[in-house]
Amino acid sequence: MKPQDKAIARIKKYGSSEDFTIKKEVMKKLTKISKDQFMCKCCKKYFLPHFLSIDHIKGREEITKNEELKKINYLESRSGKQLLSWIKKHLENKITYKHFQVLCHNCNVAKFLYKTCPHQR
Ligand SMILES: [Zn+2]
Ligand SMILES: [Zn+2]
Repeated sequence: MKPQDKAIARIKKYGSSEDFTIKKEVMKKLTKISKDQFMCKCCKKYFLPHFLSIDHIKGREEITKNEELKKINYLESRSGKQLLSWIKKHLENKITYKHFQVLCHNCNVAKFLYKTCPHQR
């Protein structure tokens, strides 16, 4: 089974074991926070961490050839907790803010499906 399929199977059975501690730490740096809710960079609304994801601004795969990211060992295969830990390690690096942002699930899916979220048109 692919790691992604395994993750989905695990969620089906037990629910997500998402680590909000590290997610909050990372999101605090990437976006604004208000009363434990974080701002989606697209619709500018505030959400609980459950409704938010870390978006690869220029695409997960598209940025694999970026030299600056290569230097800090960016890997396309990182997701979830692994991605968060890696971003956390590089929060002092400006390049991180160029390539990662906080989006709500609505905006993230709309960006994926329509290339640009309708909010940005
Ligand atoms: Zn949004
Ligand atoms: Zn949007």
